[in-house]
Amino acid sequence: MVEFGYSEDQQMIVENVSKFAEERILPHVMEWDEAEFFPVDLFHEMGELGLLGVLVPEEYEGSGYGYVDYVAVLEEIGRVCGSIGLGVAAHNSLCTGHILQHANEAQKRKYLPGLATGRHIGAWGLTEPGSGSDAGGMLSTAKKVDGGWLLNGTKNFITHAISGDIAVVLVNTEPELKTRGISAFILDKDMKGWSGGKKEKKVGMRSSETAQLVMEDCFVPDENLIGEVNEGFRQAMVVLDGGRISIAALSLGIARGALECAQHYAAERRQFGKSIDEFQAIKFKLADMAMELEAARLLTLKAAYNKQRGVGQTIESAMAKLYASEVAVRNAEESVQIHGGYGYLKEYPAEKFWRDSKLLTIGEGTSEVQRMVVARELKKGLNR
Ligand SMILES: Cc1cc2nc3c(=O)[nH]c(=O)nc-3n(C[C@H](O)[C@H](O)[C@H](O)COP(=O)(O)OP(=O)(O)OC[C@H]3O[C@@H](n4cnc5c(N)ncnc54)[C@H](O)[C@@H]3O)c2cc1C
Repeated sequence: MVEFGYSEDQQMIVENVSKFAEERILPHVMEWDEAEFFPVDLFHEMGELGLLGVLVPEEYEGSGYGYVDYVAVLEEIGRVCGSIGLGVAAHNSLCTGHILQHANEAQKRKYLPGLATGRHIGAWGLTEPGSGSDAGGMLSTAKKVDGGWLLNGTKNFITHAISGDIAVVLVNTEPELKTRGISAFILDKDMKGWSGGKKEKKVGMRSSETAQLVMEDCFVPDENLIGEVNEGFRQAMVVLDGGRISIAALSLGIARGALECAQHYAAERRQFGKSIDEFQAIKFKLADMAMELEAARLLTLKAAYNKQRGVGQTIESAMAKLYASEVAVRNAEESVQIHGGYGYLKEYPAEKFWRDSKLLTIGEGTSEVQRMVVARELKKGLNR
């Protein structure tokens, strides 16, 4: 059973994160968006508050929270700024999450404290220019050499590829084995041969840094291989199961932000002698937005609750990510519509929710890929 509502401790997390987001993020949202500025200092500050090691146990200097708490954190940040929420989700779930779930004890002791406290910013590289949904079609390689591996290739669309201090990358160690020949390695800023490449100019999520990550004869010592050789793809799928919950949670924040600004606007805007929220057409839009947000929240909390209990949650994560991201897009679009012409202006927050929301149906697996995952898991259930 999903717990309905948050505990007192979780409510406190919600209040603290919400206050932080309102005070430290909200005043800069549009300035950072316009300048496509990635606020590294804010990330260091969030690290000090425990927001970059949400799921990391206290023994590695993390906050030691569970997945349900994590959903609450991301919803509150996403409600104020999708871009910052995206960075927090990628840092926690992907780079840090990969090390937390698959690295050995020595690797965890070496890398988790820096990531969890925000002294180091994390990146995670799976996607390549020629391989997105078909992640197993990657071309990057790691060649065995004395004492380690030489990595070559280009990762595409990588969050924090330039500012990241630590990156986990997935590369071919035996290309002929396809997905069974991929391994995961930890790159550290001290290593030569990897760097951030071209920074992408984006429609939304503009203050989240998205760039190529280029590896050129990058020597990685044996001790930085995560787990066994050739098990990287399987590890990545587990990481994405958790990551999708974070994108669902971020979607809740954007869907809620879009709803709230539409409600405020509709209460104030007057046409035909009354406020527009007195028209049934607007009331019904707001009602549907609120209902879909709540349905998305329940799916997301169920996935988070299962993940927290260590129960398989592949289908729940995919459903939550698929549904919540599409609700975010719908709510953001309806919010612009409720604002009329003003929704199309930069002076109102609706347009930014609209631009940011679209990434949610694409990143960490498109809606089509989520439907493929759900259908595959359903079929597995039939054959059981
Ligand atoms: C802002 C941003 C941040 C990102 N951050 C990261 C990151 O930190 N790390 C990382 O590794 N990646 C990251 N990504 C990459 C992201 O995960 C990919 O963009 C995504 O997985 C889709 O891959 P693609 O863009 O290559 O699209 P493609 O895979 O080329 O898909 C194009 C279209 O074809 C559809 N399609 C593909 N295959 C099928 C199929 N079998 N059946 C039906 N339809 C199909 C897709 O659904 C989509 O509609 C990021 C992307 C963006 C835009």
